[in-house]
Amino acid sequence: MGLEFDPGVPFFLKEQVEGDLQFADSVRNTRVSKLHREIFGSAGQGEALRWFDSRVSYFGYGDCGGSATAVACVQGRNDRKIWVTRNYVEIEHPQVARVMTLFHEARHTEGHRRNWPHSRCSPFFKHKSIWTGSDLRWHFACDRTEYGSYGSASVLLNNISRFCSNCTEKVRRDAAIYSEDQVKRIVRRSASLRLKADFRE
Ligand SMILES: [Zn+2]
Repeated sequence: MGLEFDPGVPFFLKEQVEGDLQFADSVRNTRVSKLHREIFGSAGQGEALRWFDSRVSYFGYGDCGGSATAVACVQGRNDRKIWVTRNYVEIEHPQVARVMTLFHEARHTEGHRRNWPHSRCSPFFKHKSIWTGSDLRWHFACDRTEYGSYGSASVLLNNISRFCSNCTEKVRRDAAIYSEDQVKRIVRRSASLRLKADFRE
């Protein structure tokens, strides 16, 4: 694992992130869905972590531009660096949810895809952030494509929830909860239907 940590990253956070990526690497799926194959590759051993490593080389701890509700971010268009904020560290979430966030940010490093920018959630969007509980109306916290950060991370977790053969019941249940949550951020109907069909495949 070649992740390089900024000197400002607390030791416990470095250990936590390394442990979380080790967990992602340890997942053995008996099979994977079509969207999983398209985005991350087959169920082969180590495939998901290779996907992550080919995108992310650096890890920092900062404020992601100072928004009180930010959890993590990628800042430069061609940066291979992800940042997490105090919200990532101080609000406790299950391991598989942290993995989801790391993979969400890894998707944002794809400069050749304009970093998969989010779209603005509508003023009627009722769903709240599962991480911070914050209101998402008007925020750039939704996606119109199934291939963006929300879609891809929810596909990763949904596959874990259904096909992981060496995960505990709790991990599989957590993966289901968080993937069901993230899929609500996909606001274009065709993309949302495609994801829901993939979750049943
Ligand atoms: Zn994002």
